[in-house]
Amino acid sequence: MYLQRDLERGAKGNYDWLVDEVGELGEALDSNNMEAVQKEFADVLAWLASLANTIGVDLETAALEKYKHKCPKCGHCPCGCSF
Ligand SMILES: [Zn+2]
Repeated sequence: MYLQRDLERGAKGNYDWLVDEVGELGEALDSNNMEAVQKEFADVLAWLASLANTIGVDLETAALEKYKHKCPKCGHCPCGCSF
């Protein structure tokens, strides 16, 4: 939907927007306003996807290669790590 603008903005510009949106998600969590929280989750996901698209990372592939059905640290599901 926004690929051309994302490409023109570049990776650093998209990263900066992502960081801003993560901050807004934190503020929404503090507000306990679930409607605002849901909207901020959508914004964070959209900017994460924009950044990935800008540099040619397939988010689905990246996520599944690292987290497919198991914790990448202990190899179990559910995670058995003790932290
Ligand atoms: Zn684990």
